[in-house]
This record gives sequence, structure tokens and C-alpha cells, in this order.
Amino acid sequence: METLRDVRQRVERCTDCALHHSRVKAVPGEGPENASIMFIGEGPGFHENQQGKPFVGQAGKFLDELLANAGVKREEVFITNVVKCRPPGNRDPQPEELEACGKYLDRQIELINPKIIVTLGRFSMAKFFGAVKISQIHGKSKKIGDRLIVAMYHPAAALHQPALKSTLLEDFSRLKIYLQNVNEINDKNTKSQKPIFVEIEEEIEEDKPTQLSLF
Ligand code: URA
Ligand code: SF4
Repeated sequence: METLRDVRQRVERCTDCALHHSRVKAVPGEGPENASIMFIGEGPGFHENQQGKPFVGQAGKFLDELLANAGVKREEVFITNVVKCRPPGNRDPQPEELEACGKYLDRQIELINPKIIVTLGRFSMAKFFGAVKISQIHGKSKKIGDRLIVAMYHPAAALHQPALKSTLLEDFSRLKIYLQNVNEINDKNTKSQKPIFVEIEEEIEEDKPTQLSLF
């Protein structure tokens, strides 16, 4: 049986897209195999590329603050990205890179089987929600199987647009409620009629062209 460690080793040796040329260290992601919550960002930046760890730069500091504020321990969650090697100059990951790297993320999701996936920013959001506007769905959730997918702004967005800081703090503060809800819904014995905190499945239009926009 493959483990997260095996996936990590495959990623570290991977040459399946152009991003391997410029990587210093691959950033497979980190966190426990039994994490209830998984965060998916965009791709390693400068510091992540140096250290081989996700979210250790400026955006990572803010992510730490958001987690602490929500009462969630960083060492209990799994944090990764849609591409595991740094796009040069922090450019957007290209469709062929997302496609090539998707197999590692899919395997990580399979192995960890998190109750909640939080997408950080537009690229991981597009994977689960299709072409939607983050300004319209941030903080909202969609149920896929037994799992809840929650779309959030990327922490770096608040570094460029300070008004988003309070939005992110508020969205993150709901994480524990989401976790409670998903546990209740998945518990066959519960008689609770309490709905998912915000359910947006019906509101999402998934068949628009995949034109991504940050806001
Ligand atoms: N931004 C990301 O999307 N991921 C990281 O790992 C760091 C910064
Ligand atoms: Fe392989 Fe992903 Fe790195 Fe591309 S970004 S080389 S697919 S691990």
C-alpha cells in the first residue's frame, strides 16, 4: 500500500512538467495522514522552494494567524498545493502543469481522506467548483460525497488587499462549525436536522468557460 511518504518521494523525483527545471526543493505538502482538514494552495513561492515546506513565507505567516484564530492547530492539518514545484517568479501555474501534478494531489486526498478540504485561492477552487467567482463563494461549502469543500481567499490576497483580512478571519472562524456539521451529517445515528452551515451546491453554475478571476 502506498503511503504519503511514498507520494512525497515520487514528487521529489518527478520530472513530469517544466516546473522541475527550476525547483530547488519540491514541496509535496505536510501534515498527518489522518488530518480532518486539508488546505490546498496554489504553488510553492520563493521560501517554500528553498525549504521544501508549504506556506512558510509571508502568506504562510498569515495562514498561521488564521489557523490560530480559528482554534485549529497547524500540526493537525494537511497543507499542500495544486503544483508541488515553484512556478518561476511566482507566475500562475499553467494548465499542463496543473494536469501533470494533479495525480499527486488526488492521491494525497485519497490517502488522507479529509472531512474538509479548504481551497485557498482560485486554482484549487477551480478544481472543485469550476468557473466561479471567489468573491461570490468564499466561506461557502459544497458537499462531495462525505466531504465538505470550502472555498477561501488565498491568504496572500489579504497582503495585497488589506480589506480581505477580516473576510479571511471570519471565513476561517467557521472551520470548527463546518467540522461539527460534517461529523453530524455523516453520523448515521444522529437525528439532527441541522443543515450544513452554508450549502451552495445549487447556486454554482459549473458550465461556464473556465475563465478564472481572482475577485
Ligand atoms: N502560496 C501558496 O499557494 N502555497 C504555498 O505553499 C506558499 C504560498
Ligand atoms: Fe512533477 Fe508536479 Fe513538480 Fe511538475 S510540479 S515536476 S508534475 S511534482
